[in-house]
Amino acid sequence: MRSHFPRAGVRETATAVKTGFTSCASIVSECLESITRGEDDIHAFNMVLDNQARQRALEIDELISKGIDPGPLAGVPIAIKDNICIRSVPTTCSSKILERWVPPYDATVIGKLIDSGAVIVGKTNLDEFAMGSSTENSAYGPTRNPCNLEFVPGGSSGGSAASVSGGFVSAALGSDTGGSIRQPASLCGVVGVKPTYGRVSRYGLVAFASSLDQIGPLCSNVGDAALMCEVIGGHDPRDSTSIVSEFGGLVEACEIGIEGVRIGIVKDLLDVSSEDVKKAFNDCIENLSAKGAKVDEISMPELSYALAAYYIIAPAEASSNLARYDGVRYGLRVGGDDVQSMMKATRSTGFGPEVKRRIMLGTYALSSGYYDAYYGQAQRVRSLVSRAFNRAYESFDVLISPTSPTVAFKLGSKMDPLEMYNSDICTIPSNLAGHPAMSVPYGYGELGLPVGVQVMAPALGEEVMFQVAAAIERLAK
Ligand code: GLN
Repeated sequence: MRSHFPRAGVRETATAVKTGFTSCASIVSECLESITRGEDDIHAFNMVLDNQARQRALEIDELISKGIDPGPLAGVPIAIKDNICIRSVPTTCSSKILERWVPPYDATVIGKLIDSGAVIVGKTNLDEFAMGSSTENSAYGPTRNPCNLEFVPGGSSGGSAASVSGGFVSAALGSDTGGSIRQPASLCGVVGVKPTYGRVSRYGLVAFASSLDQIGPLCSNVGDAALMCEVIGGHDPRDSTSIVSEFGGLVEACEIGIEGVRIGIVKDLLDVSSEDVKKAFNDCIENLSAKGAKVDEISMPELSYALAAYYIIAPAEASSNLARYDGVRYGLRVGGDDVQSMMKATRSTGFGPEVKRRIMLGTYALSSGYYDAYYGQAQRVRSLVSRAFNRAYESFDVLISPTSPTVAFKLGSKMDPLEMYNSDICTIPSNLAGHPAMSVPYGYGELGLPVGVQVMAPALGEEVMFQVAAAIERLAK
């Protein structure tokens, strides 16, 4: 097994650059060399921005030489999931249908990273349009798990998780609609955060299921992830679902300790997990209790309906969002005798099988005779899940569970879509409720593959979430 994180973390790198201990140019060139060495095996990237990154590094070094502070992410190499727009850089969503499409604008999170001194080094691979749990649904081939190359890195932000786990970059951005940051973080042994819905702008994130999508960081440690959230968060008038609420004090929250914190173990999510995952998780619980946390079990039977509701709501929204890829406005166009046949040929050629499956599922669920039976019912379940969480948070400050019911699985081993959908059983409930949740590595399961513990918190509860996550990280050492 490869060692995790040979690269310095976010804060360590920024400090080294700011104090002149090392130049940004040498950090970036070392980072690009590590990509050259490992990328053939791992395939974390759809595109490496070699020249831009080197150019940017020189700019950062010049600021430092003039005594100007580039910001909290000074000189930190960061990778971006390839469904987040960077001006003048192709965004593919790992789909053929966006071939050669170049966005004319930056996502809000990109502007914030740049303003904080970060260096963007590349666009990472994902399941096509973020639909999947293994990064095998990419039109550009799968990404492999740096911990063991025969295994998947999880998905859909598999490229982002692998870019951190493989030591290519100090941090990456991903997107999480049903678990796509947390599940790959868990499978690759890194930290991954899905913030409260509305706390990080979605402007410039290619829409999958707009009521669920959220951008968040993947990092090698909890404190770095806290800093990244502070940098990318905040209100944005260009995203109509953005809320007026700044992140603050997250890095400090990591130092508080957990004496007296009420932690609920979601029994229903532990019961569906494999024996090796349960073993690591139970060890974590014992240690949390020993540190003075008030740990107790809670049963939330409503959560057993969450997966089914998600696989109606997400495809329904996707079928509407993906209608815009018509051969006229974006990327690929396959010719036809008239507009209808051009659109049909473009969409048939451009979309992969999983995306087509979701569009068909979603269109069916929204069709007039079935709308109430499927979409309406799924929305009612969504309310039920939210209410179950609200009740649970009357008794607990945070809830915990495994992030993924199993450790990483082998490439090509889950061919049945329903089996793949089950990978998200523990992560989906927080998306339906819009609550924050994150994954922290804790111990190892079968074949020495990493296990992740999920910490969930009520809306805007990131502070206590980071407080508990940092304690788990300390216990894991
Ligand atoms: N694996 C889930 C899906 O395929 C979640 C994806 C995501 O969070 N983007 O829908």
